[in-house]
Amino acid sequence: MKGRPKHVLLVEDNDDNAFVYLALLEFSGYLVTRARDGFEAVDLARKVSPDLIVMDIALPKLDGWEATAAIRQNPQLQAVPVIAVTAHAFDADMQRGLALGFQAYLPKPVEPRRVLAEVERLIGPAAISAA
Ligand code: MN
Repeated sequence: MKGRPKHVLLVEDNDDNAFVYLALLEFSGYLVTRARDGFEAVDLARKVSPDLIVMDIALPKLDGWEATAAIRQNPQLQAVPVIAVTAHAFDADMQRGLALGFQAYLPKPVEPRRVLAEVERLIGPAAISAA
């Protein structure tokens, strides 16, 4: 594992949001794979085995809840941290998110720095320092 950059699966259908998060995460040294809908999220999660997933909730095909539930069915991905990002920041959603095992819940609009801060809090900085 040493020397391998940490891999983030970014699930976001909106190109403008995705561009900002992707640029910031890559600039910070993370390897980022982007999925544009819920099916792609499930498929890419299985293929790349990410260290963490940033999951938009409003998505085409499968929404973020359904995609996360499907990803969690894979034994290899049961413990992967998932940060939910959603405009629907109701209490009921939070409860649902906690039940699904989201590690963080960021209501939209999200400051990109907050996404980065949560990623770093959950899996640490992108690269293992030489010190
Ligand atoms: Mn969306």
